[in-house]
Amino acid sequence: MEYALVTGGSRGIGKAICLRLADMGYNIILNYTSNDVEANKTKDLLTAKGVDVVLMKFDVSSTEESDKFIETWINDNKDKSISVLVNNAGIRKDNIMVFIQPEDWKRVIDITVDGFYNVTRHIVKSMLTKRKGRVVNIVSLSGLKGMPGQTSYSAAKGAVIAATKALAQEVGKRGITVNAVAPGFIKTDMTEDIKEDDYKFMVPMNRFGEPEEVAGVVAFLVSKDSSYVTGQVISVNGGLYS
Ligand code: NAP
Repeated sequence: MEYALVTGGSRGIGKAICLRLADMGYNIILNYTSNDVEANKTKDLLTAKGVDVVLMKFDVSSTEESDKFIETWINDNKDKSISVLVNNAGIRKDNIMVFIQPEDWKRVIDITVDGFYNVTRHIVKSMLTKRKGRVVNIVSLSGLKGMPGQTSYSAAKGAVIAATKALAQEVGKRGITVNAVAPGFIKTDMTEDIKEDDYKFMVPMNRFGEPEEVAGVVAFLVSKDSSYVTGQVISVNGGLYS
């Protein structure tokens, strides 16, 4: 009974990752925070693939909620194990530095950086005892190169990239890999305000990516084919940056 926990799995990239991991045979614990309609639609798609699906609605930025939901599930399901964690939940609240409001700065950092900590510490603890596991963090091109107008988002994703490299070195001996995937422009709700026709000229492949193209790289990082890959950041951005 192997489970994959995907944060922010209800929509966009997280949804595509859930579907791809279900195709690989993983049962899915789908975390989301508010959109019950989309979470249930994704659950139905996953259930149709014949896997077990658990909806776990909590805000990853809350230490209390994360502790409660994850610890309860682990304690109540000792015969099952979470062998894959995908930290995908994230938000943007873009503005130029001088106009970023303190609450917006904090929210972006809280969900991305604290969210990574709140969820990962529980799951890695259980992976350490089982001496196996795969952690994949969805970061961003912004966290690699920095993007003007996205100082908060770049800071948050850059922090998770550094955490990915540190944690990979910490847990490598116990058979756990920790990697990051850095998308460029991907067509989801998060980028609905960014018109592909206005920005695709920046992308060498001259188009935005699909969520499934990110999910494919996550699938590689979860598969046996990546057994000796850890501490890496793989870009999925149509050649936008290297
Ligand atoms: P999206 O379509 O906006 O979906 C965001 C997902 O995260 C939803 O499932 C949402 O749940 C969940 N979420 C948001 N805040 C949460 C919280 N506090 N706790 C738990 N879940 C939360 O975003 P996306 O484009 O798929 O992005 C997914 C990840 O890829 C993010 O980390 C994003 O930064 C990264 N990324 C995206 C792009 C891109 O071009 N789209 C590029 C680079 C990186 P609800 O449905 O309940 O709201």
